[in-house]
Amino acid sequence: MATNRTFTMLKPDAVEKGHIGAILEKISASGFKIVAMKLTQLTKADAEEFYAIHNERPFFADLVEYMTRGPIVAAILEKDNAVEDFRTLIGATNPEDAAEGTIRKLYAASISENAVHGSDSDENAAIEGAFHFSGRDTF
Ligand code: UDP
Ligand code: MG
Repeated sequence: MATNRTFTMLKPDAVEKGHIGAILEKISASGFKIVAMKLTQLTKADAEEFYAIHNERPFFADLVEYMTRGPIVAAILEKDNAVEDFRTLIGATNPEDAAEGTIRKLYAASISENAVHGSDSDENAAIEGAFHFSGRDTF
């Protein structure tokens, strides 16, 4: 049974380019309710833990460097079928493959600097949300 929450980060490239407002507008207009949100910055240890599943991949060091270089917006989002619908809204990992109108198609520069994160399962949504927010910060 799908739960109705997912976790997102607006990544450093999106924040640097001033796209926070436009991306949040698109998220809200697509029916997601923000139930937790903050501007924060990942430490190297945070990024290594968050992306631990990729630690053998050739892009891992660059990914950690990128994700730690500036602030991000972390948020928990609520909607029916949140995980799957948010992955649809953000589009494919590589913006060249992302559907028209998706957040990555609109705002991502490359497969590495791709503007936004979205959890890939209900289990990871819960783990990733808890990584960034306590129960007191979540509505
Ligand atoms: N990434 C990268 N090069 C790749 C694949 C992924 O730099 O060839 C980065 C990119 O920022 C991506 C993140 O690593 O969003 C996590 O990769 P994943 O395959 O989980 O993609 P996602 O779930 O974010 O679409
Ligand atoms: Mg992923």
